[in-house]
Amino acid sequence: MNHRPTAAPWRALPAAQQPEWPDREALDAVLDRLAGQPPLVFAAECDALRHRLADVARGEAFLLQGGDCAEVFDGAGSRAVPGKVETLLQMAVVLTYAASTPVVPVGRIAGQYAKPRSSPTETRDGVTLPSYRGDCINGHEFTAEARTPDPQRLGRMYESSAATLNLIRALTASGHAGLHQAHAWNREFVLRSPVGERYERLLGEIETALGFIRAYGLDRSAGSRPPEFYASHEALLLDYESALVRTDTRTGRPYAGSGHLLWIGERTRQLDGAHIAFAAGIGNPIAVKLGPTALPEDALALVERLDPYREPGRLTFLTRMGKDRIRDVLPPLVDAVTRSGARVAWVCDPMHGNTFEAPTGHKTRHFDDIVDEVTGFFEVHRGLGTHPGGIHVELTGDAVTECLGGGDDVAPEDLHLRYETSCDPRLNRRQSMDLAFHVAQLYREQARPRPPHPQEDTCDTTSRTSPPAALTTSAGSA
Ligand code: PEP
Ligand code: MN
Repeated sequence: MNHRPTAAPWRALPAAQQPEWPDREALDAVLDRLAGQPPLVFAAECDALRHRLADVARGEAFLLQGGDCAEVFDGAGSRAVPGKVETLLQMAVVLTYAASTPVVPVGRIAGQYAKPRSSPTETRDGVTLPSYRGDCINGHEFTAEARTPDPQRLGRMYESSAATLNLIRALTASGHAGLHQAHAWNREFVLRSPVGERYERLLGEIETALGFIRAYGLDRSAGSRPPEFYASHEALLLDYESALVRTDTRTGRPYAGSGHLLWIGERTRQLDGAHIAFAAGIGNPIAVKLGPTALPEDALALVERLDPYREPGRLTFLTRMGKDRIRDVLPPLVDAVTRSGARVAWVCDPMHGNTFEAPTGHKTRHFDDIVDEVTGFFEVHRGLGTHPGGIHVELTGDAVTECLGGGDDVAPEDLHLRYETSCDPRLNRRQSMDLAFHVAQLYREQARPRPPHPQEDTCDTTSRTSPPAALTTSAGSA
């Protein structure tokens, strides 16, 4: 039986960055199978994240979103997943304590397998083949066989996402990822690095504070609550995403079952395109990348399209302007959206506007440029009295050498030592922790956001009601 929604409005619209599958029948068979599988996440979990993102939009929490540029199937069984989760949670410890703000940790994980590409083909030594589009579409190896899109890979995407998510749920539920484990993760890191020592001192301070709280009886459960952790990925492959849409039995509203938070990338955010139509039809929190060419009217139109009912936490903008553009390009966008009365979360992706090719031929980014863009992001928000809501970074827990600079000052000639990414360069654990300390410092220096918000002044809420129970797609039930 075909469980797939057929009336999804996105199907009639142009969809950028979709692979050309050589065998449509094989694709349909895989999609039918996926449509009969359980969702990977539940609508109620997505709603819980939406409430947390509403805190971010209100200026009461900070989003920490990070993980690989592109996950690989081989990575699902390795130490890489705990390493990424630990790194994000270590960063969250630094930010929560040093910046005194609740942090919402969201992985670029358990579904981040599809990549948009600037060119559909790649040429090497006179041979032209389809570009690598992520493990869920084709193989990285430069052979005609590997580069041919294979729909069976969509099945593996579901399985790898499920295995990864299961591991994350086990890590967090078992207490492995709790605060009391934070010293254990740090053992090697502390021995070899000044950032590690700084982190260890911070943990000592936190323990003293928790000890006081416990002794004083203020909070019996302090430090023992399992940390929350959510999964996100770019909603790029609409056939896959649609096959995992399930109707929330509580409300009749469709939700993507592939991850808690989905984002639409810089190359697929056309207002009249299929990706935005798909995102408009699901109940998950949605993020949209905004690059240096984004105009205030684009941001306003995205708000109208994706958050017509002004649901707190529904919409996040991930800005990726580049260190040289952010201070000029971001203010009119934030200003226009704020004046419109809409309330979104503003999050800085300091990676994708700062990529360049090193003399060695490696695609890389410099740690200082990343810090510069985040600094510009904080400056812009300070100037406007708005909330710098978070960061979105590409990172791994492994000691890779993909980005330059940072704690151990990775030099261009070091890049080849451990250059392991299958797509964009990632911060290693030390660089990630370094960044967390920088961000915590920036956050501390930031003046409190300036209330009240224009919406509260104008009471312009009369035309907004709650979203309809069922929006646009019909789908199998959760
Ligand atoms: C990414 O996040 O890996 C990506 C491709 O980003 P963007 O859409 O901002 O270019
Ligand atoms: Mn990337």
